[in-house]
Amino acid sequence: MKKLIIANWKCNPTTLKEAQKMMVGLRAGIKNNKIEVVVCPPFVYLAEAKKVFGVGAVKIGSQDCFWENQGAFTGEVSPTMLKNLGVKYVILGHSERVMVMGETNEMTAKKVKAVLSTGLTPVVCIGETLEERNQSKTFQIVEKKLRESLKAIKKQQVGELVIAYEPLWAISTNQGLTCAPDDALTMALYIKKLIAEIYGRKAKEKVRVLYGGSVGSDNANKYLENEAIDGLLVGGASLNIKEFTAMVKNI
Ligand code: PEP
Repeated sequence: MKKLIIANWKCNPTTLKEAQKMMVGLRAGIKNNKIEVVVCPPFVYLAEAKKVFGVGAVKIGSQDCFWENQGAFTGEVSPTMLKNLGVKYVILGHSERVMVMGETNEMTAKKVKAVLSTGLTPVVCIGETLEERNQSKTFQIVEKKLRESLKAIKKQQVGELVIAYEPLWAISTNQGLTCAPDDALTMALYIKKLIAEIYGRKAKEKVRVLYGGSVGSDNANKYLENEAIDGLLVGGASLNIKEFTAMVKNI
């Protein structure tokens, strides 16, 4: 399986001009197909992403979506709209949506179902807070979020899933902490074990489990050393196109 590297631009940059510049830089820097690279710009830049990346090496993802396809849902963006814009991957249940926007596991579950039924690939984010880790609740929390977020998913759909283990305390070095590669590996293996328990051994082979949390060119390969980590979700460091493309080239 190819390693999958997803760039999450979060709420950046602030102008279309800057976004275009970043996209053009990314297109120029990512030519090889050895690694699967996905970029997730804000919704407003997705149409531009479609123009810039076309059918090239970089695929397009979005950072969220709604669970209905159309109708009276002010402010929402649907899976079908995203599909029609060339989007292939959708990040769901990201900790910033959980902590800042109050997204629940139930809402994530509805989104995962809608995204899969539209033929897109959900990237479901799962991780614990520092408090939960300090209380030795990491495994329990990860299991709860995984089971609740995948509640509506059938066995035959599960191969399309990507899960990102993202410990909240390690995202954007929020608390000045990083997750040791061994700890990330333990959690990736645990997530795969849960997938096997819920959906069977074959499903475990298909589902890709990524690590995310303060990954940059200095530590990316440490997380990818073990086969069980299928790729990375990169936030802050993906905004620096030089650093990001150098990181991908070094994998
Ligand atoms: C993320 O946005 O999912 C993320 C992992 O961010 P960062 O790389 O900045 O920690």
